[in-house]
Amino acid sequence: MSKKIRVRFAPSPTGGLHLGGVRTVLYNYLFARQHLGDFILRIEDTDQSRFVPGAEEYIMDCLRWCGLEPDESPLTGGNYGPYRQSERKANYRAYAEKLVADGHAYYAFDTPEELEKMREDFRTTENPSPQYDHRLRQQMKNSLRLSKDEVAKLLSDGVPHVIRIKMPADQTLRFTDLIRGEVEFNTGHVDDKVLLKQDGMPTYHLAVVVDDYLMQITHAFRGEEWLPSAPVHVLLWDYLGWKDSMPQWAHLPLILKPDGNGKLSKRDGDRLGFPVFAMNWTDPKTGETTTGFRERGFLPEAFVNMLAMLGWNDGTGKEIFSLEELVQAFSLERVHKGGAKFDFEKAKWFNHEWIKAATPDRLLPDVKAVLSQQGFEANDDDYTKKVIALVKDRCTFTTDFAEQAGFFFKTPAAPDMQAVAGKWTAEKTHFFNELMNKLPASKDAAAVEQIFKDLATAHNIKVGELQLPFRLMLVGGKFGPAVFEIAAMLGAEETGKRIRQGLQALA
Ligand code: GLU
Repeated sequence: MSKKIRVRFAPSPTGGLHLGGVRTVLYNYLFARQHLGDFILRIEDTDQSRFVPGAEEYIMDCLRWCGLEPDESPLTGGNYGPYRQSERKANYRAYAEKLVADGHAYYAFDTPEELEKMREDFRTTENPSPQYDHRLRQQMKNSLRLSKDEVAKLLSDGVPHVIRIKMPADQTLRFTDLIRGEVEFNTGHVDDKVLLKQDGMPTYHLAVVVDDYLMQITHAFRGEEWLPSAPVHVLLWDYLGWKDSMPQWAHLPLILKPDGNGKLSKRDGDRLGFPVFAMNWTDPKTGETTTGFRERGFLPEAFVNMLAMLGWNDGTGKEIFSLEELVQAFSLERVHKGGAKFDFEKAKWFNHEWIKAATPDRLLPDVKAVLSQQGFEANDDDYTKKVIALVKDRCTFTTDFAEQAGFFFKTPAAPDMQAVAGKWTAEKTHFFNELMNKLPASKDAAAVEQIFKDLATAHNIKVGELQLPFRLMLVGGKFGPAVFEIAAMLGAEETGKRIRQGLQALA
């Protein structure tokens, strides 16, 4: 029997969840669902200096909003827990010590000052930023250079130390990446990364390998920015004797700025006016809040659809996919190698398509939230759903419902009739006065239209000249769906009230 597919998303809780992060979640999720596997959320919080309170909850809320919930996580638990690396601290030292015993790693006792001095002393034009590596390790204070006794003494004296991997000076490593194919590295360029820190916490490099092994991860998908770390990980899998269990890697392409090259950043979003986070994020250090896709008025269905297409397509030109359809259609083979440019106009297009296609029932909770935030009272769900059906095609964002639907819930304050005042006549006033009394009790747009047209003929005024003033009276602006639909929805009484108000403004 082949192994059960297990994938993981392994964020560090250092801030808000970026587009790229959610896309990594999505590809993990799709792959797991498609193969009836498990999708695991593991919090990589071993770097306590970068820990940001609230970030973990934020990440989980994001996944919930997107509908991409993990099967195992710090919140849900599972058979491979704990799912926070800080709670797994006791696991790691033994593996690091084993690497030392086997000659693949060593103790390093250098102080921060000594490391700084190394960077100063060995700087040359050929080597402008010297690293702790095979060229310099013999000059440093570590168990490779010191005698056995000296090392034993330092250890028993409790002198602070780290454990570093001993990267081979010149070895070619190859592995197959599911997206990039055969990848090759020379170990000579990689420094002797710290595996275990002074405080006994592992670094990312050790923890990711140990936990992917212990959690029986079969496939590891992560951003391309991790590719340079892959040789360290491949070696660790080998040195720890787990080569045959190593997950298959897939390094996902970067999400690029819309205007030029380079990785998309929060700054690009601020500069060009679009969100890069899934949801609002308030940085607890600066107190600064950044708008996310959710708050901007995206539907999660549209957000997920848009993200899926940032670097993947099914080859048929189809663009609108539900999550279920994505689970069926997704394939790693069709993920592009090159970076995907983020286009906010395209993101808006996806959202508009999803709003147009959504049923009023689906939109109801979102629209009610938007309306209530803007001070509109939408208490009658049947009425609200009819309004949604009338205006949804005009909304790109759910937040647009405030403007597009607000006038169905609140009489516009003193309408601006400026646009029609110049051509106003006493006859038109008569027309509207009469219309008020003739409006049908039934909420039937065709009936309103018929009465309106008959009356226009009777007053010898062109219908076209009466529709704009009617709209201004009802809506308070030059927008909205068909004016007879609006009048029918508002009902005779409210329509009459708005006509009276409009006539007053004209008088
Ligand atoms: N903790 C890493 C991050 O923050 C995870 C990288 C990986 O998936 O291996 O992105």
